[in-house]
Amino acid sequence: MKPSVLLIYTGGTIGMVEDTRTRSLKPFDFSQITDHIPELQSFNISLSSVSFEEPIDSSNMNPVIWVRLARLIEKNYKRFDGFVILHGSDTMAFTASALSFMLENLSKPVVLTGSQLPMGIIRTDGKENLITAIEIASRKVKGKAVVPEVCIYFEYQLYRGNRTHKFNAEQFQAFRSANYPVLAEAGVSIKFTRNAAHKVSGSGRKLKVHTRLNTAISVLKLYPGITENAVAAILNTKGIRALVLETFGSGNASTDKWFLDLLEKAISKGILIYNVTQCNAGRVVQGKYDTSAKLKKLGVVSGVDITFEAAVAKLMFVLGQGGSGKDMRRMLERPLRGEMS
Ligand code: ASP
Repeated sequence: MKPSVLLIYTGGTIGMVEDTRTRSLKPFDFSQITDHIPELQSFNISLSSVSFEEPIDSSNMNPVIWVRLARLIEKNYKRFDGFVILHGSDTMAFTASALSFMLENLSKPVVLTGSQLPMGIIRTDGKENLITAIEIASRKVKGKAVVPEVCIYFEYQLYRGNRTHKFNAEQFQAFRSANYPVLAEAGVSIKFTRNAAHKVSGSGRKLKVHTRLNTAISVLKLYPGITENAVAAILNTKGIRALVLETFGSGNASTDKWFLDLLEKAISKGILIYNVTQCNAGRVVQGKYDTSAKLKKLGVVSGVDITFEAAVAKLMFVLGQGGSGKDMRRMLERPLRGEMS
């Protein structure tokens, strides 16, 4: 039997065309893609597709659409061996992270891909990205998926989705995963990195789809010279329940009294503060320096080596789960889907 893959088209550059009036790129319908890859017809993979009626630029991606995607995978889970989501690269790492939390006990591949140049352009990177993503989504060994997790395939590399960030807006190699090895590299053959992909134990547990996400979060990126007013404005945002605190280096922040007092006050009101480094590689080690020991003492939770994208998605997921502050802290402290070491 041929393996089967469901292709989900959400939008992004891969299917965009130039507006003749404004000269800017905007999403077009799915035929823009399939018409340019006749090879899809001759694949030894049974391919089906669904397309958003109105494809989007991924800057318009949001948690409501994440729920829609998770439900679509749930509905088709039994029928297909794998899933490929065509998505704009701008927010692809956020969507991959969110889906990784929403799809618990995933035992089939969900591969996100897209391109930096539209399919209609002769030098497009979209064709290879799409063909190889489909191939990876269909790969099995002894009846089991080779990469049973949410991943991103871009420019010959397969990454764990929740470890990835977009770092280049121009080059074909747009993504990086600095704190986790690539899951596979595609050359003449596709070489999967031994022991890098998630392993499904035994016959695997039943897929559980979580659709409750809570967006009552905010982000505070530190910089030298940040004012008390600016910090207070973020921490006093009406209704927020969790904050990504983007710190320096290995999780360090100012030890100014006003700053620590504001954090302490926020924590005493029940706001969860997640310490994520502004560096793309390396990790938060609270207590390594005096400038992070203070944060630890206040009850700031270390994000270790989580990406900013995964931290945002994880906070929405954890808040959506509900439970006591202690329960939520515990979830933030440990890896739930391989998003941190
Ligand atoms: N703006 C586009 C998007 O994210 C960029 C891309 O697809 O690469 O939808």
